[in-house]
This record gives sequence, C-alpha cells and structure tokens, in this order.
Amino acid sequence: MPDKPTRMPVIFWGHGSPGNVMEDNQYTRRWAEMGREIGKPRAIICISAHWYTRGIRVTAMDHPKTIHDFNGFPQAMYEMRYPAPGDAKLAREVQEKLAPLEVTLDDSWGLDHGTWAILKVAYPDADVPVIQISMDATQPPKFHYEVGQKLAAFRDEGVLIIGSGNIVHNLGIMDWRLPPGGYDWAQRYAGYIRNAIETDKPENVIGYLSPGEDAQLAVPSPDHFLPLLYVLGARLPGDTARFETSTIEFGSLDMTTVILDAA
Ligand code: ZN
Repeated sequence: MPDKPTRMPVIFWGHGSPGNVMEDNQYTRRWAEMGREIGKPRAIICISAHWYTRGIRVTAMDHPKTIHDFNGFPQAMYEMRYPAPGDAKLAREVQEKLAPLEVTLDDSWGLDHGTWAILKVAYPDADVPVIQISMDATQPPKFHYEVGQKLAAFRDEGVLIIGSGNIVHNLGIMDWRLPPGGYDWAQRYAGYIRNAIETDKPENVIGYLSPGEDAQLAVPSPDHFLPLLYVLGARLPGDTARFETSTIEFGSLDMTTVILDAA
C-alpha cells in the first residue's frame, strides 16, 4: 500500500513588490529555503491578492500563462515566465469540494504575479502544477474563511495551499526612504493580527476592521488581506503557526509570511 501523503502546511505568503523576484534579499533567500524545506507538493493551489472577481473562478487550463500585472519595472521582468503546468483535474475537484457554491472553470487567467513571483523563487524548476482560485469580491470576510475551511482537506492529498498577499498593505502612504520597522499603527496592527493567529482566534481576523483607525490604515482595501482568511480557514487542529520575514517595509508594507505546520 502506498504511504499516505503527509499533511501539507498551509502558507500565507507576504509577497510585497513583484520586483523581489529579481533580487537576492532577505525575503527571496527565505522563500527559496522554504521551498527546499517543504519539498515539492503534488500541486499548489494559490489564492492571490491579484485575482479578485465577481463569483469564484478556478484556473483550469493545461498551460497557465505568466501574467505581468504590474507597471514600471525593468524589461527583464516582462520577459520572465513561470511555465508551471496547470491541473484541470484538481480544478474540477475544487469545484466539487466547494459545491454548492458556484465555481467557474476559467481558461483566460493564468498565474498573476502574486503567484508566480513567489513560486519562481521557491520552486524555480516550475515542475509542480499550479492552479489559482479567485476571491469573490462580492462576499463578506467570513465567506472567504469558510472557503478556506472547505479547501483544508486538500492538505491531506499532497496539495500546498498558499494565500498570497500582505497583512499591512497601504501603498498610498508608503515612503521608500523609511528604514524597515513600519509606522506605529502598522506595527500595532501587525501585532494584533499576529496575536490573533498565535492564540488561534480567527474571529479577530475575520473581524479585521474592528481595531478602527489602525485597521483602516493597514487594510485600506481588502484584496491583500483576504488571502489570509483562506489560510486560517484551512488551519487544522494541532497546526502550529510560524512567522517568517516579519519586516514592515517603507512604513506600511508588512512582509510577514505565516506558515501553519501540521503537528
Ligand atoms: Zn500584491
């Protein structure tokens, strides 16, 4: 009898600037190590901050294209490709697992930079099949958490689930001249969310706007925060939380990655 695959971790990946993929920095060095530590999963499901749609979609093409959804980067960034295969069978399994929610099989998206710019570092061979699931922009926070709960079962089937975003993400007031450390409110808010994860209080993350002004500044729009709710939804009993690269850059961009490891 074949070994039962071990339960995969689930990861909230702080992706930050797409330009990280070009750099050798504290983030990319850790990301590459994470890929080696975790090893190659059977497949990857990524919920990216950059695919925010009406209704839920899941990529179902055999060869998802690399999407260069950013502006103002060097030409070399636009020439980068991440030719990981898709996994249409897994996409249909997602569709079944999320029923009765309606999930549309998508053949027009691909891999946006929330997905490929981290995976190119962690899994540079691009030989692990990758699918993306979009976030339904019409739904409240709890919905995203509940979708994560339904996806949790894939962890026992050798699938690595990734939510790719940033906990504090306010580009409008970012200041490139600031040293790492973050604005006071950014530090307070990152600490609040970290505490909610450490003490396993997902209700505080679902109610992420309740800290008032700090929350309004840290999460001025939901897209980069919501992938965290999928990750916490996929948390299973006995998982322990690890925090990586918890640096706040430029005042208001928290690069924290959260790994939930199976017991
Ligand atoms: Zn982003």
